[in-house]
Amino acid sequence: MTDDEAEVESGRVLFAGDCTFLLSVARLAQLPAPDLPEVAFIGRSNVGKSSLINALTGRKALAKTSNTPGRTQQLNFFDLGGQLMLVDLPGYGFAKAPKGTVDAWTRLIRDYLRGRPNLIRVNLLIDSRHGIKESDEDFMNMLDKSAVVYQVVLTKTDKLKRGELERLIDATEAKLRPHVAAYPKLFATSSEKGDGLAELRAELATVARTASPGL
Ligand code: GDP
Repeated sequence: MTDDEAEVESGRVLFAGDCTFLLSVARLAQLPAPDLPEVAFIGRSNVGKSSLINALTGRKALAKTSNTPGRTQQLNFFDLGGQLMLVDLPGYGFAKAPKGTVDAWTRLIRDYLRGRPNLIRVNLLIDSRHGIKESDEDFMNMLDKSAVVYQVVLTKTDKLKRGELERLIDATEAKLRPHVAAYPKLFATSSEKGDGLAELRAELATVARTASPGL
């Protein structure tokens, strides 16, 4: 078995294990203890975040479709086999969200990103049909300031033709270069077709395994 194959296998095993919903929190005082390495998922509303978390874990309805604007914004925690915490963060980019909602989102997410010691990777989801938009750039600047490593995960790649996908990957990599906290490798996924999921599971298993001991 090559190293790559071994990583894919450890990702498969990790994500085939139990995945249980732990809790939803609307305030950081309610966060669970930072006992496990943690990876978070975020993106514009409707990017395909719930579908991706469900597809990665092989569950049909583990993560629910996104909150509507104005509803309480919550962070949802899932325990993956007692080895990795998956966090479903509230999405951004609602065109018509009231300012108070946006400000509350910004405070909550900024404080979470800056203050969570066991957060080792953020998955920044980008819809393949749209590429990186201004609200994604804004969020990437917030991530750069928080010094949290993030990787771009393209979603819904089944909607593009092969040539279109290759151009999107090149253009997205070019946009990532100036961002200091961006991981250089990106992941092209389709929750519907299953493309790219094994590679993403492998990366997250590697991240979990190499997380600093003693968390
Ligand atoms: P969320 O709001 O980010 O949690 O997004 P959802 O997971 O609810 O997905 C938003 C919409 O995109 C839904 O209509 C999904 O069926 C669709 N969608 C999600 N992932 C894919 C995918 O991989 N391929 C296609 N074609 N559609 C997808």
